[in-house]
Formats: sequence, C-alpha cells, structure tokens
Amino acid sequence: MSSLENFPWLNKAFLNTNLLTLPHSSLIEGSKGLGKSILASKIAKTLLCSESSTSSCDSCHSCNLFDQSTHPDFFINEDDSKILVDEIREMINFSILSSSVSSSKVIVLTNCENMNIASQNAILKTLEEPTTNTYILLTSSKRRALNQTIYSRCSKLTIKDLDQIELTDWVRSQGIEDFNYYDYPTYLAPIEILKYIEEGKNNDFIDFSNNILKFCNKDLSINQTVKYLLDMDMSSIEKVNLLIDFFKTLLKAKLSNTPYSGKFKSLNDLNISTSNLSNALDELNGLRNMMIKVSSINENHSFKYFIFKLDSLIKQ
Ligand SMILES: [Zn+2]
Repeated sequence: MSSLENFPWLNKAFLNTNLLTLPHSSLIEGSKGLGKSILASKIAKTLLCSESSTSSCDSCHSCNLFDQSTHPDFFINEDDSKILVDEIREMINFSILSSSVSSSKVIVLTNCENMNIASQNAILKTLEEPTTNTYILLTSSKRRALNQTIYSRCSKLTIKDLDQIELTDWVRSQGIEDFNYYDYPTYLAPIEILKYIEEGKNNDFIDFSNNILKFCNKDLSINQTVKYLLDMDMSSIEKVNLLIDFFKTLLKAKLSNTPYSGKFKSLNDLNISTSNLSNALDELNGLRNMMIKVSSINENHSFKYFIFKLDSLIKQ
C-alpha cells in the first residue's frame, strides 16, 4: 500500500523531481491525506541508494537497510502530535555525523508544523547551513503554522489536490468500484476516504447526504431531519462541517452554472437561489463559530433553529 506506484500523483511528483540537483532543504507541502510522507520516504531511499540515483534499486545493501528501518544514515521523526526540541537536537547531532553506509544522509521531518517554537528556532541554523551531503526533507499540510523563515529556507515541492475524476479513478482502482465522490465530504483526501471505507464510516457519509437531500426535496420533515442530525454518532462540529460542505458543493455547482447530477439531480427542480444558498452557509458558519466559542451550547436547539431557517431559505 505504501509503495509509490499505488499513488499516481506522488509518482508524478517523484518523476518530476531531479534528485541530482535537489537542494539540501526541501519542503513537501499539500493537503493532509495525500501521502506526502510516502513521497519523502521514496526520495530518501533513492538519495541513499548505492546503485541508482534516479529511483531506489530496492535490492542494494542500503535499500535493504532502509526497508528494515535500520539505515544508519537515515533519520525520521516519531509520528507524534508534537515535535519537541529534544528530538530536533537529536536530529542536529545526527546531521553532524559522517555517513556510514551511503554517500549522503537524509533527515525526514513529517508534519513539521508540529514543531513548537523552541524546535523551530533550533532547526533554523541547520536549515541555513546544512552539513555537506545531508538532505533535509520536511512535510507539512499546514504551512501557515510554520515559521516563515523556515518556509523561505526550503525549496518547495507542492502536491496538488486531486480533482473529482482523478479521485474517483483512484479510489475505484483500489477495489472500491461503487465509489462516488459526491457521497463524501470534499475535504477528505484520497487516503482518508480509503481509511473511512475500511472503518465502515463511509455509510455515515452516504446516509448523511441522502437524508439532507430528502429534506431538501421535502421527503423528510424538519423534526425528522433534526432527529437524524442529533442521532448521528459524531461531534456537533463534525456534523456542522458536513452540512457546510454539502451546501458549499451545491453553491459551487450553482455558481458555475452546472446542473446538479447523479443523486443531486432532483435539486434542479427545486431551483434554490444562489443567495439563499449563501445565506444558509452564513447561518452554518455562524453556528459553527458559536459551537467553537460556547462549549455548553445546546445541540438540540441549535440544529432545530438551523433546520427551520434552512427550510424557509430553500423552500421559498
Ligand atoms: Zn538501492
């Protein structure tokens, strides 16, 4: 699964990267769930490989050590929610050692936005004055959370989000032949979608969009819709995020003058105006902000209020 060949978008980025001229500090950026760390590993393995400089041979001594996670010239951070300064110090100590198996050394820091301020300060000098033959590969899905100096010190390798066709083709190629992108929130990345399907959460999403559609088509009453939302087994914020995503998708289609297709087709007869859709989104964003600020907010009242409001907006 974690082989690069399984991810055409990562493979493409890999083939487009000239490793012979790779700067010593690089940042792989893009949304979460695109597999940035898989790409970082492939680049690292190739930089360390003794036989090939274009793509790891997967059979030399270095490649074997890399596969066994025992390569002495490779450093990767722990998969933790925080990158503490001790780990960065360990990384800096590693960077000044000479290599023992390969001609270079590689450091990978995944989710580097998880560095706290002390860690970010500690790493700056290493990024500015890298040791010869040491490559540092950072990955991040939240570059705004990153120190701007760190960001500007790195060369960037950007992984773009997949469009609906690419996403559909890929998920189906992974054996999920009945996959339809519109059953899922647009903010889910390809790997997250697979994970949700494996965990059986996909039915929640399909159920959710089907029920909200039914409500829009007057096949589900206000009370039934509120009850459905309250019974959903997820946090209030997650539910509001799903609603926001649903109405954003409708608004996007409307703004681009694209008729609704697939299971959304019935909405074309409703003719919900663009301004009512944006009003519904404003309401939802307001509700979301309120939920973030007031933790004791009454979910029942909030959803009831919103569904009433929505009812008047979309059924005028
Ligand atoms: Zn090799």
